This record gives sequence, structure tokens and C-alpha cells, in this order.
Amino acid sequence: MVQVKMGSNILGANELLARKNRNLFEERELLVVNLMSSPGSGKTTILERTIEALKGRLKLGVIEGDLYTDRDAQRIEQKGAPVVQINTEGACHLDAGMISGVLAKIETRELDLMVIENVGNLVCPAEFDLGEDCRVVVISTAEGNDKPMKYPLIFRQADAILINKIDLIPYTDFNLSQFQQDAAQINPDAQMFEVSARTGKGMEKWADWLVARVEEKKAGYNKKG
Ligand code: MG
Ligand code: ZN
Repeated sequence: MVQVKMGSNILGANELLARKNRNLFEERELLVVNLMSSPGSGKTTILERTIEALKGRLKLGVIEGDLYTDRDAQRIEQKGAPVVQINTEGACHLDAGMISGVLAKIETRELDLMVIENVGNLVCPAEFDLGEDCRVVVISTAEGNDKPMKYPLIFRQADAILINKIDLIPYTDFNLSQFQQDAAQINPDAQMFEVSARTGKGMEKWADWLVARVEEKKAGYNKKG
């Protein structure tokens, strides 16, 4: 009997391309963040606020992953950050090959930080290494607080978790302490931030965290000489 394990073959090819991306990011001293969430949790608005908060501190570029449209990329462009759009034509996640395919279209040598906005989905984006340094998950209070238990993989891998739309808590059933407890149980190392991209609350702390990660990566290079 011939058994073909498609899934593992595809992931094997992805691993190779992710390694290639990671080497290139290393060579260019570029910190890369993979930003993941379900649709509508506010990734693009967080990015707009992050660009504002990092102005004069870091040079930030964006790769926008979207099913079909370039609406989010247009919003990022209006904020003055270099941006490349990937339309997945229906594919529900980004993979390392899609990232390596667009790297020539963005001046990565001039950047300190590149954020990849993944396709809105809490399931398979977690299974595809893009070559990033950090994984960040955004969750909004309007989605309910059961997400860490329902989607443990994406939370387990997160370096940071942004709880967005914190200003809407009075209008939802979101139980913040329960969420924090569940997320910490699944991943005690993830840094959690309470933010509202709409009002700007908490964005400074998050921006400081990004600056610290960039400095950490650059310090690592200097050590290597
Ligand atoms: Mg978006
Ligand atoms: Zn997918």
C-alpha cells in the first residue's frame, strides 16, 4: 500500500522556506512579527495605532495578508508605512512561500521591524512558520473569553497576547480575569496587554514591548560580532 501524507509534505516544504526567510531577516537585522487573530478583532486598527506610536522610534513595514481585497493595505499606506499586499485568493492562512515571494517588493534593509498581518483565522495560521521572530495573537472582548480553551495551539505559541476593545467590556459578557487565567494556564510566558486601538489605551506599553524586542535582536547580533 502506498500512503501519501500530504499534510506533512506540505509542512516540510514550508519549514525549508521559513528557514530561508529567517536567515534573510537575520542577515538584515530585522525583527519580524506574525500578527494573528480571528476576523474583526482589530488587527489593522492596532497596526495603524502601532505605526503612530512608533513614529520616530522604529522604522516599521507591513505585509498585509488578506483573502481578496487590499483595503487594509490602503489603510496602512495612508499611515505612511511601506506595505505589501498578499491576496491569498481564498486560502485561509499565509505560508512561508507567500512571504518569500513578496520580500523583494519591500525595502527590508531600511526597516527595524516588519509586521505580517495574517489572514483572520485562529486555526491554521498557527501551523505555518513564516520565519518570524515573534508571534502575537489579538483577541477582542466582543468575541467572548473562551478562545484560549477553544484554540489552544495559537495561544500556546504566542509571545504576546493583545486583548483589544478593552473599552467595550461593560457592554459584553467578556470575563477578563477568566480569560487571563485561561491564557496563562495554556501559556504562562506570553506577555498580555489590555488595549483599545480605538481610544489608544494601552498602545504605549505595547509599542515599548516591540521596541524592546527589536533592541534585544540587535544586541544579539552585536554579541555575535
Ligand atoms: Mg485586517
Ligand atoms: Zn488555512
